[in-house]
Amino acid sequence: LGIDCIWLLPMYPSPMKDDGYDIMDYYDVNHEYGSLNDFIELINQAHKRNIKVFADLVVNHTSDQHHWFKEAKKGKSSPFHNYYVWTDDPSKYSQARVIFKDTETSNWAWCNDCKRYYWHRFFSHQPDLNYENPAVREEMIRIIDFWFKIGLDGFRVDAVPYLFEKEGTNCENLPETHQYIKEVRKFLAQNYPDRVLLAEVNQWPEDLIPYFGNGDEFHMAFNFPLMPRLFMALKKEHHGPIVDIINNTPSIPNNCQWAIFLRNHDELTLEMCTDEERDYMYQEYAQDPQMKLNMGIRRRLAPLLDNDRRKIELLYTILFCLPGAPVIYYGDEIGMGDNIYQGDRNGVRTPMHWNDNRNAGFSTSNPSKLYAPVITDPEYNYNSINVESQLNSHHSLLKFLKKIIGIRKSSNVFAEGALSFVYPENKKILTFFRELDGKKVLCVFNLASTSQAVELDIRNFNGYIPIEMFGGATFPKIGELPYLLTLSPYGYYVLLLEKN
Ligand code: CA
Repeated sequence: LGIDCIWLLPMYPSPMKDDGYDIMDYYDVNHEYGSLNDFIELINQAHKRNIKVFADLVVNHTSDQHHWFKEAKKGKSSPFHNYYVWTDDPSKYSQARVIFKDTETSNWAWCNDCKRYYWHRFFSHQPDLNYENPAVREEMIRIIDFWFKIGLDGFRVDAVPYLFEKEGTNCENLPETHQYIKEVRKFLAQNYPDRVLLAEVNQWPEDLIPYFGNGDEFHMAFNFPLMPRLFMALKKEHHGPIVDIINNTPSIPNNCQWAIFLRNHDELTLEMCTDEERDYMYQEYAQDPQMKLNMGIRRRLAPLLDNDRRKIELLYTILFCLPGAPVIYYGDEIGMGDNIYQGDRNGVRTPMHWNDNRNAGFSTSNPSKLYAPVITDPEYNYNSINVESQLNSHHSLLKFLKKIIGIRKSSNVFAEGALSFVYPENKKILTFFRELDGKKVLCVFNLASTSQAVELDIRNFNGYIPIEMFGGATFPKIGELPYLLTLSPYGYYVLLLEKN
């Protein structure tokens, strides 16, 4: 594909009640995947190919099977009791919302061993670590040190806003949490200045931006507010949702970067939507109630876009033209389907389709033993939707992804350039410039299911000649008059502007 980084979902020993986000040992690899030495070999092989490796780091909570928690349950006399958050009064922190509201009714759970309640922002089998305890804060830095020492390049840090709790608040984004991240960053600056911390902070821009600090907290953060609006703009056939969220997102420090994405391993979260926007998204993208989960939609990219190649290409092209590092979820590069009849988020976490052999080439084991069934739905069957068949086809989605990754990497204007919108009268068209050090790219997208014409007032680029970056064709020179473009349904142009 031409990618330059792999982000691994949690690979630690775990009872797997939450697909590894319930860690029982931070210093080892789940033996079903291999040994620690295998992991080091993976990092080394990736580095040989100029690919960096990030891992997930779950900082807010552990599994209830972690030996810290097993010890902590013994009561106040245990040295590990204080590793977790306990109370005798479950009305404490009552302003904190319940996140997994489809499964949990409270953030407190009763421990029958020590006859106290413990705090959990997510599943009740995931007790929150107590960040008020200096031993916990030091332990997490020791864990980071351990993995960076063996060559890991970065962490995607899970569920960051929930580290600290404080009475009278919603227990999210507290100043203490920011203070601790600054401490971690200081540790990196002193010991691992070339490693990266990428934040999972599913919050509105005003609460998300502070996680960059003054360039002294996270290096990167996922752009959660942008993601659902890409889907919204497409369905509404209107550039408003994308233009508004980007215009309303403050700029970030120079040494920071967004990670931008269409889909990931979780539900398409609608937490950063208004009630009206959420209703609209459910109505348009989750007609079957089985598709809804918590406050989102548990679907992969291709099924969300009706398996319409034009829409898939369009959203990917928008993504790759926007500022930030694009992140692709495994399987979405070949348009894999999902299975909404699997519980929780398992339907978007099924085995990768490598080829049309047994278990889609993912495993030689007895199919009944797989952690989740491969996709056999007629439209998305692994017999046809797989890497091998797409490598053999010049027009596959995989080849398209490879092409657009190549275009993206051909110029640093996409990663680092400034973005400025053009506001055509035709609101079905999304248009912006990307500019860096004299390099200029004009990006034009038709969000509509019908052919469209658009007149662009871009006379300040008078004299420039647009070159279409997918095929290299030359377009008419830009002049004083409005620049006219016609676009097919869901069509797009990425135009490099050349002076001569
Ligand atoms: Ca917490």
